Amino acid sequence: MDIRLLDSKTIPLDGLPSHVGNTPLLPLRRLTSNLSPKVKVFFKAEWFNPGGSVKDRPALNIIQNAFINGDLGHGKRLLDSTSGNMGISYATFGAALGIPVTFAIPASASPERLTLLRALGAEVILTDPSEGSDGAILVALQLAADKPDLYWYANQYSNPANWQAHYLSTGPEIFAQTNGQVTHFVAGLGTSGTLMGTGRYLQEQLPDVQIISMQPDAPFHGLEGLKHMPSAIKPGIYDESLAGTNLQVRTEAAHEMTLRLAREEGLFVGISSGAAAVAALEVASKLDEGVVVTIFPDAGYKYLSDKSLWEAK
Ligand code: PMP
Repeated sequence: MDIRLLDSKTIPLDGLPSHVGNTPLLPLRRLTSNLSPKVKVFFKAEWFNPGGSVKDRPALNIIQNAFINGDLGHGKRLLDSTSGNMGISYATFGAALGIPVTFAIPASASPERLTLLRALGAEVILTDPSEGSDGAILVALQLAADKPDLYWYANQYSNPANWQAHYLSTGPEIFAQTNGQVTHFVAGLGTSGTLMGTGRYLQEQLPDVQIISMQPDAPFHGLEGLKHMPSAIKPGIYDESLAGTNLQVRTEAAHEMTLRLAREEGLFVGISSGAAAVAALEVASKLDEGVVVTIFPDAGYKYLSDKSLWEAK
């Protein structure tokens, strides 16, 4: 596959790119006690990225490619729709590079995310919460069409640099960190970049690896960052034939698992990590042996205002 590997000299980020990726691969230890002893479940701890989530990987790759192509760097604003994490990553690198950023974001995004975006100097355009992330996509598209001289529309849902970031980093890291022993890869679907890029890389290295996608079970759900694909605008980069299996996770199951991760594993992670753990443990429970790897996209701090979730008995 012809993908340009970029290095830290491509744009003047003074070493910041070297802190993106290379996140730890850690085991679930207690929630796996009822599994066959020959089954292991690991997760990539993506909150170790400088912007606090997995989205640092595509955000940096999209910005680097835009610099190379001449789309950014001449005063244009980077514009995208985001559920929060991608915006935080763009805003982090945008601040470091002096690139102004504008985001269309559903007004229902957690207050922590909106405050973080503003702290990083981003312009935030709130969109109708009842229209979810699709409403934000439509507002960004309209803005880009109305003011092409002001905005460069990064379009994370269709930009190949999104999935390629995972093909270049997440996939090779998981392959190396498991010594090529990974048998199952499970990831949630938002833009689908994580699943597409990591899945493609692992399939090329290990033809027998199982790729499993996970998504909310209903159009209206509480899994921030994830999409219910049948009822959503299909991301341009999403190829639904890549995953051999697709699992659906209920919001309540993800909430319960997020609490269990905190209380039984000491892992204070976000709700899509809870959903990933539900799916990964479901896959693992059917195996006699295997190495199941999933992604924990971010930590729990951005969701703290949801007190009923965290303070449940
Ligand atoms: N979880 C969270 C918390 C996210 O912000 C995202 C990105 N929208 C995802 C999961 C899904 O990642 P991707 O866009 O690569 O499918």
